[in-house]
Amino acid sequence: MIRRFFTYYKPHRKLFILDFSCAIVVAILELAFPLAVQWFIDELLPDGNWQVIISVSVGLIALYISSTFLQYIVNYWGHKLGINIETDMRQQLFNHVQRQSFRFFDNTKTGHIMSRITNDLFDIGELAHHGPEDLFIAVMTFIGAFWIMFTVNVKLALVILFVVPFLIWLIAFVNIRMNHAWKSMYKEIGDVNARVEDSVSGVRVVQSFTNEDYEISRFAVDNQNFRKAKLSSYRVMSYGTSGIYMMTRLIVLIVLVLGAWLSLNGELSDGELVGFVLYVNVLFRPIDKIGALMEQYPKGMAGFKRFTELLDSEPEVVDADDAVEVTSLKGQINFKDVTFGYDHHKQVLKNIDLSIPAGDTIAFVGPSGAGKTTICSLIPRFYDIDGGAISIDGIDIRSMTKQSLRAQIGIVQQDVFLFTGTLRENIAYGKRGATDQEIADAAKRAHLEAFIEALPLGYETQVGERGLKLSGGQKQRIAIARMFLKNPPILILDEATSALDTETERIIQQALNDLAKDRTTLVIAHRLTTIKNADRIVVVTEEGIAEQGTHQELIAKGGIFANLHRVQY
Ligand code: ADP
Ligand code: MG
Repeated sequence: MIRRFFTYYKPHRKLFILDFSCAIVVAILELAFPLAVQWFIDELLPDGNWQVIISVSVGLIALYISSTFLQYIVNYWGHKLGINIETDMRQQLFNHVQRQSFRFFDNTKTGHIMSRITNDLFDIGELAHHGPEDLFIAVMTFIGAFWIMFTVNVKLALVILFVVPFLIWLIAFVNIRMNHAWKSMYKEIGDVNARVEDSVSGVRVVQSFTNEDYEISRFAVDNQNFRKAKLSSYRVMSYGTSGIYMMTRLIVLIVLVLGAWLSLNGELSDGELVGFVLYVNVLFRPIDKIGALMEQYPKGMAGFKRFTELLDSEPEVVDADDAVEVTSLKGQINFKDVTFGYDHHKQVLKNIDLSIPAGDTIAFVGPSGAGKTTICSLIPRFYDIDGGAISIDGIDIRSMTKQSLRAQIGIVQQDVFLFTGTLRENIAYGKRGATDQEIADAAKRAHLEAFIEALPLGYETQVGERGLKLSGGQKQRIAIARMFLKNPPILILDEATSALDTETERIIQQALNDLAKDRTTLVIAHRLTTIKNADRIVVVTEEGIAEQGTHQELIAKGGIFANLHRVQY
């Protein structure tokens, strides 16, 4: 796991080496400083040569300034390194998620992916900022300082060695408590946000039930919980910092008192005493780092583990090694003995045989949950089938590249997803790089022209969350415009007009009929009027394909379809 973590440093090797070398120099300078002071007091002061004293003082100041400057570099470049790594990881994860198959999204909650991309990567980033070089430098200064202290005075060094673990423990303890406190604060602020979002977007429901007071009291509870959580995190922070401060001062005092006693006994020179006090201060920084890392490391590594788990999930639907690019298919679709289930314990489709001639319009009807959408989502290989074969123009779809196969198929569903952006961008989603002329043509054929031209900003109108709200029929027409741009030989209309009122449906039906022209079209429809002119109607039930034929044939047959028809009219 750690080795894998380090592979992310590879692209930033130069930065890492620069940062690391500066950090080593800083550590050495920091260790040298108390020694220089000790030498200054013990050797230079008694001589009383002012010229030497002044020039050495200037040297010490220069040493200090350069060390501070180097620390700036270490800090800045170290963070830069961490941020770069975090950015790489986030991009990699996003790319990976984009390439996953449908089943992955069926089984993974969006919030789960979101928290990998935000929270976990934040923790990993923290570790990457502060991780390896901090630990190395901390351990090095720690050992270096003790080594020097032991050579100067064993007794005093032993005493310090004895008390230091308490300080490390205290820092780690405070960090863990802080982390808990922050976590519960994040949870509470999440609750507050959710409550605000709920009652604001549901305000019409709230007011129509005159439940404002109820909402207010519910919000008050969340608001108070957040207050408590925030307060307790500040309490932990306050006693934590005070406690640590007290402990460090205590250690300095212990050194001072013991050192004074040793000095009176003639076992320690004045310079050595000052040197010790300074070394104790040098120690505090690595101790602080080690304490913080004791909390950061498990958190960052846990995040990294979840990150890699997500990264290691292989996409289910992949191109075969010898997959071929297909272009301009005619759209003759064949299902042969196709079996499919979303999971192992339930088969949704059993031994489906179906042949669709190129250019025909085939309608699927049947009870909801029968598998109509499922049949259609197998054609673009959103899922791979468990048995049998699906072919287009006689070529097995598994031997085509996913990208070229999907380029041949257009889908219009009941819910049209609009991206944040302009109308133009949303229409052009059907064909990236489409010219203005092409977009205008598509809009015209989708009967969108009049609507768009009446808008003050026209094609540049923002849609979505913070923009123009579109009606179901308008959204549907955007989806149709996208299809005119994409211009695929195979078209799937999955209850595209089911959510619309009959009047809107009638207008859109016109655009859909234009769209279906010269394409193999699969229509799933609720209202049987919309499919009257289909070349063939396929009735799907949970048992499979129950009957198929033209409208007239099925009515004459007096089976399931005739029954459905009678109920609707
Ligand atoms: P229809 O479009 O005919 O209403 P579907 O093809 O959507 O039916 O669904 C067929 C069956 O498969 C239903 O039992 C449904 O619950 C199940 N199903 C549909 N989509 C999924 C999915 N993504 N994961 C698991 N089961 C699903
Ligand atoms: Mg469906």
